[in-house]
Amino acid sequence: MPDLHPWELPRRYDVVVVGGGPAGMAAAVGACEGGAERVLMVDREHEAGGILQQCIHHGFGLHHFKEELTGPGYAQRYLEQVLEHDIDVLTDAYVLDVDASRSVSVLSGRYGRTSVDAGAVVLAMGARERTREAIRIPGTRPSGVMTAGFAQKLVNVAGYLPGKRVAILGSGDIGLIMARRLVLEGVEVVGVFELMPHANGLTRNVVQCLHDFDIPLHLSTTVVRIHGSERVEKVTVAPVDEALRPRMHEAWDVDCDTLLVSIGLIPDNELARTLGVRLDPVTTGPVVSSTMETSRDGIFACGNTVHIHDLVDWVSQESRLAGEGAGAYASGRRQAHDNVRLVPGTNVRSCVPHTITTEREHTVYLRVTQSLAPCTLRLGDVYERPLRYVVPGEMVTVKVRPRFLESFHGGALRVDVVPREEAGRE
Ligand SMILES: Cc1cc2nc3c(=O)[nH]c(=O)nc-3n(C[C@H](O)[C@H](O)[C@H](O)COP(=O)(O)OP(=O)(O)OC[C@H]3O[C@@H](n4cnc5c(N)ncnc54)[C@H](O)[C@@H]3O)c2cc1C
Repeated sequence: MPDLHPWELPRRYDVVVVGGGPAGMAAAVGACEGGAERVLMVDREHEAGGILQQCIHHGFGLHHFKEELTGPGYAQRYLEQVLEHDIDVLTDAYVLDVDASRSVSVLSGRYGRTSVDAGAVVLAMGARERTREAIRIPGTRPSGVMTAGFAQKLVNVAGYLPGKRVAILGSGDIGLIMARRLVLEGVEVVGVFELMPHANGLTRNVVQCLHDFDIPLHLSTTVVRIHGSERVEKVTVAPVDEALRPRMHEAWDVDCDTLLVSIGLIPDNELARTLGVRLDPVTTGPVVSSTMETSRDGIFACGNTVHIHDLVDWVSQESRLAGEGAGAYASGRRQAHDNVRLVPGTNVRSCVPHTITTEREHTVYLRVTQSLAPCTLRLGDVYERPLRYVVPGEMVTVKVRPRFLESFHGGALRVDVVPREEAGRE
């Protein structure tokens, strides 16, 4: 990373971006495109790139760059754009606080504790993994229990194996990718145990990471006890009933020395919370407008901080928009006011952004509550589109064009995804 500010950090920027992962990088570039002249991107790590730096597998950029890249490859592409736009990058620097007047407080090895004033701020802090403690698995507390993302960092960045015989709880993408990664490194992966009746990761990851390597996936099954004093010795697993209660009389023991937990990510939102930004109770990220502005004036948010994405391509797309919004705000150009509030309806868990306008085209990102195939997506009674299938593990992206909403004049718009026969009955 070039030494951008060897002597002094400027006191004011048009836009400050918190986080230098794919969301932060795309937002910083977007801010320049939106009209900002001085943009600062801050990251606590030594290098920008966020979680991508530890994802050495392929599968990034198929939509955005029309190429199959590794995580670091994708990050490099964006970092080049950041540097081309003359964006200041401050790494090894932790953002402690952002206040409502958009003063950003930073702790950095180079500058100590300092603050920077910003015309607009973009929050792009990513997400953190749920741990064993979050779901309170009973048992002892031996070594060998860790999150799948931590194991990924151990293997791909530090060059260590987490164990020799591994069980994985949860079928999120990180767990699926780690199952394959560990087998390739000679580790025995005894199985993936998933509480829900469906896998939580992308279908392509279930096929390429489990089926192709003969790794068993036990659906509707969970870990009910961890055993071992110094090191994990085994785990007890049990099938669950429809209410997700373990059927203990059918439990069995699985010998292993390591348990990876891959039970979901939680948006990293301490800064948003202290700022008093309105949060969505379902996504736990900020409520955002069509330009990704939060409920606080001039504070924008994007990426996993807002809602958990399965593909980095969508992160880049959404974050560019947030950056453009922030750049325009800082240059004194407010964008169109939203007149439509999206309301998650039947089988829809969440919709982002939370509001849109009838004047422009928008990409809306949905999560569904259950698998359906074939099905129909409906926006109120003004628009419907057939979908081949939806599954909770895959985000649904929908382009909402002004012509779809011609007969809609604003207010609450319900978003439903219903089985195809049900849609056809009316
Ligand atoms: C293990 C794993 C595997 C994945 N595999 C794929 C895949 O195969 N294909 C695909 O398309 N997508 C994949 N994804 C998804 C994709 O990588 C993520 O959606 C994307 O990285 C999210 O970007 P982000 O910038 O929001 O968050 P992150 O990448 O997490 O970046 C957030 C950044 O913010 C910084 N930060 C946080 N708080 C502060 C603070 N207070 N001060 C300063 N800096 C801060 C962090 O250091 C970090 O660099 C994967 C994700 C994970 C976790």
